[in-house]
Amino acid sequence: MLTRSALIYLSRQERLKEFATHFKLFKKLTTRFIAGENINEAIAAIRDLNARGCSASFDHLNESVTSPAETEAEVREYLDVLARIDESGIDSNVSIKLTQFGLEIDRELAYQNARRVVADAARRGNFVRIDMEGSNLTQATIDLFKRILAEFGLNDVGIVLQSYLYRTMDDARDLLKIPARIRLCKGAYDEPPEVAFPEKRDVDKNYVEVMKVLLSSGIYHGIATHDPKMIDATIDFAQREAISKEAFEFQMLYGIRRDLQEQLAKDGYRMRVYVPYGERWYPYFMRRLAERPANIWFVLKNLWK
Ligand SMILES: Cc1cc2nc3c(=O)[nH]c(=O)nc-3n(C[C@H](O)[C@H](O)[C@H](O)COP(=O)(O)OP(=O)(O)OC[C@H]3O[C@@H](n4cnc5c(N)ncnc54)[C@H](O)[C@@H]3O)c2cc1C
Repeated sequence: MLTRSALIYLSRQERLKEFATHFKLFKKLTTRFIAGENINEAIAAIRDLNARGCSASFDHLNESVTSPAETEAEVREYLDVLARIDESGIDSNVSIKLTQFGLEIDRELAYQNARRVVADAARRGNFVRIDMEGSNLTQATIDLFKRILAEFGLNDVGIVLQSYLYRTMDDARDLLKIPARIRLCKGAYDEPPEVAFPEKRDVDKNYVEVMKVLLSSGIYHGIATHDPKMIDATIDFAQREAISKEAFEFQMLYGIRRDLQEQLAKDGYRMRVYVPYGERWYPYFMRRLAERPANIWFVLKNLWK
């Protein structure tokens, strides 16, 4: 059986990425988790989500970009997405990855690129979420986020924290002082025990503790998880503390626990679905398999359907 670490390792293999991206059959398998290869397909998926009571966040798949020209194309893609959100009237914001904008090439370039997208979103009254990547980039991501936030408003740009990292509670308290809007997730990368809790129960415990600090802050945050235990803990805490359903949102990934997404929306909770699209879907798709290796059988079964 392929383990989580092995799948995360495979997600970083460039040769496999090239192979998989050009192999039509493999591409077909991804449709459960990827909303399409282009913006029109993503808009169609978001219209459908909106009709089911969920808002969305666009994610153009293309991480670890290696040339400045490619980062420019990413900025243009996001500016186009923001314009298309306005034109189409769909309910969606955008999520970006700083490596997509050049964080591993030149930090100043990444800052300028991300700043352009945030400025456009702010002008349109929309919102940019800066995703969190591997722990080697946590500090750089937080620093760049703070720099952008200093120029824009609380409702223009937000960040993500991962409960598997030991540092996350300190980061949450620090960011709340600014203040900042945070998406809390467990964390999707393969991290060593020097920086991250190796045991799932500790990741979950930290998730609940950080969630309580976030919800008590009075700032609008995103509780991103498909884990019913985390969701129940959030609902219980909010009810006990008389925190209204409008004061925060749940977030889930496209195609994962669609039943729970709809149920929470029906129950009056705010539900945002993260909608990845684009041709460079390979590393994202492999991380989803890594989270739940049973997904391998799920996608393979679809081959015969
Ligand atoms: C909106 C959103 C944004 C995210 N942004 C980031 C980010 O910026 N940085 C980052 O590192 N991570 C991000 N993640 C991923 C996150 O860190 C986790 O890897 C992922 O959400 C799985 O954790 P979980 O909370 O669902 O709990 P888990 O304990 O992993 O799973 C709980 C249950 O959820 C279901 N489930 C979880 N994953 C899957 C799956 N792939 N397929 C099918 N069922 C599944 C299963 O029923 C499982 O038992 C994001 C997740 C969401 C929902």
